[in-house]
Amino acid sequence: MFAIPQNLQAVHAQIVHAEKACQRPENSVKLLAVSKTFGVDAVLQALQAGQHAFGENYLQEALEKIAAVQAQVPLYAPLSTPEWHFIGPIQSNKTAPIAAHFAWVHTIERLKIAQRLSQQRPPEMPALNVCIQVNISGEATKSGVAVHEALQLAREVQALPHLRLRGLMAIPAPLSTDLAPDSAGVEQQFSAMQRLFADIKQALQSDDFDTLSMGMSSDLAIAIAHGATIVRIGTAIFGARTYSTEKA
Ligand SMILES: *Cc1c(COP(=O)(O)O)cnc(C)c1O
Repeated sequence: MFAIPQNLQAVHAQIVHAEKACQRPENSVKLLAVSKTFGVDAVLQALQAGQHAFGENYLQEALEKIAAVQAQVPLYAPLSTPEWHFIGPIQSNKTAPIAAHFAWVHTIERLKIAQRLSQQRPPEMPALNVCIQVNISGEATKSGVAVHEALQLAREVQALPHLRLRGLMAIPAPLSTDLAPDSAGVEQQFSAMQRLFADIKQALQSDDFDTLSMGMSSDLAIAIAHGATIVRIGTAIFGARTYSTEKA
């Protein structure tokens, strides 16, 4: 097992390699370090190594971690304050703490949740950056808005005063149940997201709409080849998660 700074370096190298391979400019892809199930020490190590953006899925775990990291950061001067992204499913009775403690939310799939986040965003904070999660695999059990409803939801979210609609997010489903990843299936889904992103951007005519959040440890290069601007990486930075500690 390598240390977090080395892992971060390796992931950055993979990102640069993938950007070059598809002739995208260097630094066009931002790295979101997914720290769910990992502790404050892991976040501080990554911060010290220069990582800025962190993703969390479970609200209670995240709030405790954010407070603990906040208390430590002054000791680690001149570290910058981390930028927290919420990337988990959102219950409507949990929107207030999300609106108060995060800079980004990637998992908007219903207007009601977006309205609550907008209403509950503290007025002294800048608009909350949000992405609409799209159910690109079309499976009934998966989170996200259906492809054919994404533009309508985007228009409604774009009109909310304390949110800034930044783009789309997706978690492709492996189409095969084999242990080997079905990369053709995943690639088709990323490719469909790239087209949907372009269509919605065209329809909205918005410069703010600049983010395609897709790609995880196992498929970041394919995601970058299909236009990802944020990759969400956990395992390749922090190591394997102990799933028994994850909450549903
Ligand atoms: C856990 C998680 C990730 C990170 O996945 P890895 O395979 O560990 O890189 C990315 N996105 C979301 C939404 C997640 O829940």
